[in-house]
Amino acid sequence: MKQIKIKSSAGDSAIFINEKIKNADKYICAEKRIIITDSNVKRYYEDIFPSADIIEIKSGEANKNLDTIQYIYNKFIELDVDRSSFILCIGGGVITDIAGFAASTFARGVKFGFIPTTLLAQIDAAVGGKNGVDFSGYKNIIGNINQPEFVICDSYFLKTLPKKEVLCGLAEAVKAGAIKDESLFAFIEKNYKKAINLDPDVIEHIIYESVLIKANIVNADAKETGERKLLNFGHTFGHAIELIYNIRHGEAISIGMIISALISVKKGLLSESDFYRIKNLLINLNLAPDKSIKFDMEQAIDSLKRDKKRAGNKIDFILLKSIGKAVREPIDLNELAHAAEFLNA
Ligand code: ADP
Ligand code: ZN
Repeated sequence: MKQIKIKSSAGDSAIFINEKIKNADKYICAEKRIIITDSNVKRYYEDIFPSADIIEIKSGEANKNLDTIQYIYNKFIELDVDRSSFILCIGGGVITDIAGFAASTFARGVKFGFIPTTLLAQIDAAVGGKNGVDFSGYKNIIGNINQPEFVICDSYFLKTLPKKEVLCGLAEAVKAGAIKDESLFAFIEKNYKKAINLDPDVIEHIIYESVLIKANIVNADAKETGERKLLNFGHTFGHAIELIYNIRHGEAISIGMIISALISVKKGLLSESDFYRIKNLLINLNLAPDKSIKFDMEQAIDSLKRDKKRAGNKIDFILLKSIGKAVREPIDLNELAHAAEFLNA
């Protein structure tokens, strides 16, 4: 078991990699515990949950909204939850986002912990303290930053994950390597087949290194360096198409990463050989754009125009100078539209 500490302006958190759910009790410092989970995770794993009342919500991004938050608040009231209670969130990124927001806003903040059950949540979503829900077609637009007391990453859960979910988790690891750590990127390139097959040593290494990168960025951002924005690599464009085309987050950001890398080449920042390394790795991971989808770029660009990172016709974008080195630069929306045409070529 390895531990990574988060120390941020929004509180501290301990992330345990390769820890077991059966040890969760020792990290929970409250008599009254409530588990929030989704129906799939409950069906598979209820028998190994720590003893607690369970609030079950429907799975899927479509339920990541304020109605679900209200539903949870009502359940909290029924169950007499107060500030001395503890909320344990067991599930994928959708559950940790929703439950973290419900816990950290109810009664001005109830303590909570995460047991992420998808690779994507272990690598990315459950780490960093961002909680929230979608609203009116915008991803994560309502939310807060509040750290869970702990995050327990137990690879036991990964064996029931559909293959596509494993691949989507790996997309975030590719992102982490691309922006900060060439050696992680090269490790995934070399071991992608083992990673897809959840080889324990390979997957543990990938989770640990990815979480370490994210934790270092979140910790550095406590000093407001803007480092955290680098984590948006592939996400600005990715978010714009994720909801429109109803594709998985990992697939959407993979397309976003290819577009960002392409723009980086066009601007003379990134070498073509690095661009092809990124594209080929995503192809090997089955995350390259699906040719059966015809992207309506106007619609995607339109949604970017409403993006909070926009100023005039320019939008803040994360580009690459090389694999492992990201920079933040404003780019022109027309330039983006032009690069994005590549998807339909
Ligand atoms: P993420 O953002 O982490 O991809 P979701 O919370 O939407 O998240 O999870 C993806 C899907 O996988 C959901 O349908 C969820 O119910 C399901 N799921 C979560 N954890 C597991 C697991 N360990 N095994 C099988 N399915 C899971
Ligand atoms: Zn992401």
